[in-house]
Amino acid sequence: MEKKLRARLEEVEGRLEQACRRAGRLRSEITLVAVTKSVAADVAALLPALGLLDLGESRPQELWKKAAALPGHIRWHLVGHLQRNKIDKTLPVTRLIHSVDSIRLLEALEAEAARQGRQLSVLLEINASREPQKHGLELDSLPALLPVMDKLTHVRIQGLMTMAALEAEPEESRPTFAALRDLRDRWQPQLPPPHALKDLSMGMSNDFEVAVEEGATLVRLGTVLFG
Ligand SMILES: *Cc1c(COP(=O)(O)O)cnc(C)c1O
Repeated sequence: MEKKLRARLEEVEGRLEQACRRAGRLRSEITLVAVTKSVAADVAALLPALGLLDLGESRPQELWKKAAALPGHIRWHLVGHLQRNKIDKTLPVTRLIHSVDSIRLLEALEAEAARQGRQLSVLLEINASREPQKHGLELDSLPALLPVMDKLTHVRIQGLMTMAALEAEPEESRPTFAALRDLRDRWQPQLPPPHALKDLSMGMSNDFEVAVEEGATLVRLGTVLFG
């Protein structure tokens, strides 16, 4: 498994490099988050030796389980929906929550971070593809968010995340990624500090090269690494 992983990672790195070159970007601007939801902890445990220290899970319980089983220097990313009753156990083990998809969740995170005496970084999940069934804040939700952001003292917003619709062709995700970047550029000047929209978490196995071309700073990859 380790050999196979190493080979797949090399291929992914090559594709990332190429996408960076096309976009005139540096590979160092992009963090590869390995989404380990399809593999067991013993496979995820092989990743640090390959240089992958940013690991992601979409389900909080699975993140807790793997975080407990793996070395403490791994940076865990929660990329899927967080139910409010799972916030307390998630905060201590998570470096970045990509999936803040409602004002209610943002307020609950602030309350729990204050209770635990922690500072927390999050991304706002945006439904940039405008699919009705999908989690995420709407593209026009900034006016409702500003007064809430103003009051946060433990939670810092540091970027935006989106999931493109599942498309047959990676190119079809481009408008969604471009919309997220546009939104970042429009919202950024209006955000009260210390909030700042520096990160764009977008791009999965099917479309990460397009996402890099459109400005992704975090790509979330599962299948292309683990099969
Ligand atoms: C599973 C998952 C990924 C990784 O998806 P792949 O297509 O396997 O690369 C990325 N982001 C989120 C939110 C996920 O749930």
